[in-house]
Amino acid sequence: MTTFNDLGVPARIAGLLAKRGVTNPFPIQALTIADAMAGRDLCGRAPTGSGKTLAFAIPMAAKIGKGTRGRPRGLVLVPTRELAAQVSAELRQLAEPLDRSVATFYGGMSISRDQRRLRQGIDIAVACPGRLADLVRRKDVNLADVDFVVVDEADRMADMGFLPEVKRLLDATSRQRQTLLFSATLDGDVDVLIRRYQRNPIRHELAETTEERNDVRHLFWHTEAAARVHVTGDVVRSVAPAIVFTRTKHAADRVARQLQRDGVGAVAIHGNRSQGQRDRALADFMAGRVHALVATDVAARGIHVDNVGVVVHFDPPETGKDYVHRSGRTGRAGAKGLVLTLVPPDKVRDVKSLQRALSLPSGVDRVALEQLPTDFRPKPIVARVPERPHTSAKPARKAPHKPSRQHRRPHARAAR
Ligand code: ADP
Ligand code: MG
Repeated sequence: MTTFNDLGVPARIAGLLAKRGVTNPFPIQALTIADAMAGRDLCGRAPTGSGKTLAFAIPMAAKIGKGTRGRPRGLVLVPTRELAAQVSAELRQLAEPLDRSVATFYGGMSISRDQRRLRQGIDIAVACPGRLADLVRRKDVNLADVDFVVVDEADRMADMGFLPEVKRLLDATSRQRQTLLFSATLDGDVDVLIRRYQRNPIRHELAETTEERNDVRHLFWHTEAAARVHVTGDVVRSVAPAIVFTRTKHAADRVARQLQRDGVGAVAIHGNRSQGQRDRALADFMAGRVHALVATDVAARGIHVDNVGVVVHFDPPETGKDYVHRSGRTGRAGAKGLVLTLVPPDKVRDVKSLQRALSLPSGVDRVALEQLPTDFRPKPIVARVPERPHTSAKPARKAPHKPSRQHRRPHARAAR
């Protein structure tokens, strides 16, 4: 069995990991860390929940140099704010004891806070591209000294929505740069990043093992569109915590509200909510104060919550890739998981071709609550959330849409 020591990880870091109970490298870590430590550019693909964050956080913490005012040395780019926060937290645990600081930059937070932080000097920036590009334009940050870059969820970052900013940012970093790309799905989109920004990269791909596949059950149920909230409520009463994915932000709000009405504690997370509301929704869900997190695809990538019992595709995903990432919020790090897709009559064909494309169990069954496993019975709600004044939830700076009272209701209700 390979140890972190065998992979060239400094004893100091191995010690920090051991304190958290991380003693043996996961396979993707065993595959990539030695190369990353040796300075190679690499592309790492491994299933959702397989430990990719530490696969890059360990070499980054071990190798990163000291930054100066406004000039960091390391950069991690991620597609969502929640993922930025989680990656920072994981990286900080390794970097800070080695006297390397980590700062996080994303929209919806005060830009003057970012500016102050940068003036103090930081070593590693974890950022969503939009906000970081803003800071570059304002000359609050200069990326020329950045010689260690990670692009997490790299295929998503290579999608059209992100690519122009990502390119501009990478172009502003040092040419003597080590560049790592990670994702559970590294498809065509990512080639442009590989070709343009990596030097002689080595590709490490880890397929899901049969055992891991068997840890996650995939169910598909015929459900009339109008019956979906009711079915979802019944599911969450049997299996929780649950992440429920909807196609639109509006639907996420509506479903959360309807679940609340149906007696299921639910909060919504999506791009039109203020950062305060998003943070609070995720915190309530992680603390067990609600049983369901109703989300758009903003929560599909990267974010980790321990032991999610079920992922419900309330609306079928747009693509197979979206199915993989949404579903990957359950069954993480060797845990068991359940994925349920609700299939309205007009979506049966699409869902069947998705099943074929991803080699999933085929066919769509009738609703069968008795098929639900018993190992994820909902735990009693942890505690009532004390009322907080709403002034603490600042609206997102760029959000064109101010959340209406109606949009806020699931949040307010959860608070009672
Ligand atoms: P991915 O990015 O591949 O989706 P994460 O990096 O979020 O997965 O890791 C999933 C979980 O596994 C996290 O809770 C993480 O702390 C845990 N983990 C990662 N590596 C190890 C390890 N070597 N031993 C034990 N737990 C680990
Ligand atoms: Mg990840």
